[in-house]
Amino acid sequence: MDKLNNGNGFIIRGAEVFDGEKMLGPRDVEITGGQVSGIHPPRGDEYYATVVEEALGRQLEVSAAAGRQVIDGRGKLLCPGFIDLHCHLRDPGQTWKEDIFSGSAAAAAGGFTTVVCMPNTDPPVDDPTVADYIHERARRAGRCRVLAAGCLSRGRDGTQLADLAGLYAAGVRVFSDDGSDTDDPGVFLNALEFLSMLSGTRVLVHAEVPKLARGVMHEGRASALLGHDGIHRLSEEIAGARAILSALSAGQPLQITHISSAGTLSLVRYGKEQARHAGRDGLITADTTFNHLLLTDEAIAQYGTLAKINPPLRTEEDRQALLAALVDGTLDALVTDHAPHTADEKAQELQYAPFGIAGFEVAFGLINRHLVGRATPAGPVTLECVLKLMTSAPADLLKPLATAEVPSLGVEALADFHPRVLAHSPGRIAEGTVADLVLIDVDRDWQVDPDKFVGKGRNTPFAGWDARGVVELTFLSGEIVHHL
Ligand SMILES: [Zn+2]
Repeated sequence: MDKLNNGNGFIIRGAEVFDGEKMLGPRDVEITGGQVSGIHPPRGDEYYATVVEEALGRQLEVSAAAGRQVIDGRGKLLCPGFIDLHCHLRDPGQTWKEDIFSGSAAAAAGGFTTVVCMPNTDPPVDDPTVADYIHERARRAGRCRVLAAGCLSRGRDGTQLADLAGLYAAGVRVFSDDGSDTDDPGVFLNALEFLSMLSGTRVLVHAEVPKLARGVMHEGRASALLGHDGIHRLSEEIAGARAILSALSAGQPLQITHISSAGTLSLVRYGKEQARHAGRDGLITADTTFNHLLLTDEAIAQYGTLAKINPPLRTEEDRQALLAALVDGTLDALVTDHAPHTADEKAQELQYAPFGIAGFEVAFGLINRHLVGRATPAGPVTLECVLKLMTSAPADLLKPLATAEVPSLGVEALADFHPRVLAHSPGRIAEGTVADLVLIDVDRDWQVDPDKFVGKGRNTPFAGWDARGVVELTFLSGEIVHHL
């Protein structure tokens, strides 16, 4: 890849540009010094052959590319690099499933340039040294920006707060006990109240009431027919309600992540309405995974443990409600919940196999093939809508809320506090933005083959499924970090 990155930058010629909000039409995009340095209407072949420039009083023929490599993007789509707010890289502690090198290479192969990895590692990210380890390994891997999410509670056991200020100082801005929920509502509320004093933080909630979530799949007709213990939808809805009310009370930005149930979407709408009334738009946000948009609980009968995820795949009505929520603005981001496991782990009986699906390398292709163009009561799912929820929308969630009132702690109290700030992808293409980009052959069909995955986890129910849109090039700070 070093040969490709010659140091002089690139011109991506004639690709359809999605700027994070809308399609701009075909453009020539110049990349210099790690940034997008120019966006021009497409220029003709003559321009790319040579141009005549006046230099030293003489007419000279020079290359317009000025040493930059010209990449033919005509007929392809150039987007801001994708941002995934919810994934598992399994490092430290479970590197047989995935590690930061393999995971960030898989992310780049899927078009992602920023991923937020959940803190349920071993040891968990409840201490700044673990966050430092993840950030440093990711920097060395150099494939993708990795932002470690920090725990809310020490050891994720829900009894004591994690070192929230220490994690914040180490650059952590997303906090979660993901893998499970924070069981004790008092500890949870304390964590939110503490974090509300740290600007730019967002809590990501895996909404679950453990005593309603002892099963292996959605509790309903399919679980009854198969004879498996169910996970009741109230597990997510009750815990979701608690999380939303706690966030409104504490004034702490909070996102209900990987929503599976239509009922939770109604609660999110209530939370957004309340936040808006309080002048805190953006306080309550929500996401779902591409798995929950593509499959229902019927998938367990067909794919067995490969479709076992938590929260579980639910009914067709839930899936339809999630699709509508994608279009009507209830959902603020689309995540992969990339959760790699080995074939042996997934070969166990349904009861014992771990929850999760590997997602980085198939997420866009499956959504583009199976969901774009689908009708919902809120209107059709458009490519622009999907792309926005993978680029500018999650980028905005990683920024401090514009309307957030930062409580005054007194200048002396913060005199020695110089928290690290880690960059994330801009989620936009404009002159001067960091060139985290992805070039996609958007109409090209392919079939999911887990044996070809870059990542270690091949656990997917989507093997053999049709997908559309091939990630050809991924740029990180103007350097190619993935190519076909
Ligand atoms: Zn989770």
